[in-house]
Amino acid sequence: CPFAPQQEQEYYLVKWRGYPDSESTWEPRQNLKCVRILKQFHKDLERELLRRHHRSKPPRHLDPSLANYLVQKAKQRRALRRWEQELNAKRSHLGRITVENEVDLDGPPRAFVYINEYRVGEGITLNQVAVGCECQDCLWAPAGGCCPGASLHKFAYNDQGQVRLRAGLPIYECNSRCRCGYDCPNRVVQKGIRYDLCIFRTADGRGWGVRTLEKIRKNSFVMEYVGEIITSEEAERRGQIYDRQGATYLFDLDYVEDVYTVDAAYYGNISHFVNHSCDPNLQVYNVFIDNLDERLPRIAFFATRTIRAGEELTFDYNMQVDPVDMESTRMDSNFGLAGLPGSPKKRVRIECKCGTESCRKYLF
Ligand SMILES: [Zn+2]
Ligand SMILES: [Zn+2]
Ligand SMILES: [Zn+2]
Repeated sequence: CPFAPQQEQEYYLVKWRGYPDSESTWEPRQNLKCVRILKQFHKDLERELLRRHHRSKPPRHLDPSLANYLVQKAKQRRALRRWEQELNAKRSHLGRITVENEVDLDGPPRAFVYINEYRVGEGITLNQVAVGCECQDCLWAPAGGCCPGASLHKFAYNDQGQVRLRAGLPIYECNSRCRCGYDCPNRVVQKGIRYDLCIFRTADGRGWGVRTLEKIRKNSFVMEYVGEIITSEEAERRGQIYDRQGATYLFDLDYVEDVYTVDAAYYGNISHFVNHSCDPNLQVYNVFIDNLDERLPRIAFFATRTIRAGEELTFDYNMQVDPVDMESTRMDSNFGLAGLPGSPKKRVRIECKCGTESCRKYLF
């Protein structure tokens, strides 16, 4: 509703809900009860005036370009609200999702479907686990090492649900066959995202990003990387198409061997929007719950440090650890490349825009 001052009155062109544009009418301010919309309108107007003319006082007449911008902005807000509602209707996790774009006029992505868990591609089957543990208390009295012990691995969590294994080691959680209940300390990733997160437009040209609206403690589970599971041959084919679009959504599941890839380009959760950083605050772990096929781990992100409310979440799209680095870092010396969690496919050289001091300049 751009306004046109007549005499000393401000007039607003009102588009009435349920009526076409041709039925819009000019109304004086006192006729309008939509306080929220008016406030937003003036905020958008002031911001755009500042951007265009370095002043915020509205002129007597809005020029057509400015008026058109404000209409586009209002339409975008409506589209983003609708998308936000759609995302929240589809999520099965506790954490809410908000959407925000105060940077440009881009609306919701055109081709993206929110899912909560892997969508298994054609010809691939996830086998349901056949056995569970019999522990009285999985953390304090693990019978035979609980579920991780059954495959000679270590229990992953402390009593606060924080991961205590070094990166590269697999996490085995309790499953649907276990005797323990929902509150078992060995059920973390399976409970899903619990933090309220915001998909926001970055101001420095990195597209959408994700920020947390709540403080996240070090080593806490944040989110899973989900998408469509496809064979690596199929990933190779799709990768060539994605390369041309500059998209990086293919994540190789190469925990033991490179047979499958997760494609989060079309089907994905909020991790689809998480940006790369060479100095990330999320670390990847391979997780096994109801499926014990080592070629099909679930990919979970844990906080590498305390993350403040409002901070952007990032992970390293190309987290190769070379042997030299391994000796000098926190990793133990027996940390093997074979045990590394997967990383998105490397194809073309993509310049990194993460802006951190330790930036490697190229993603791949
Ligand atoms: Zn147990
Ligand atoms: Zn168990
Ligand atoms: Zn348990």
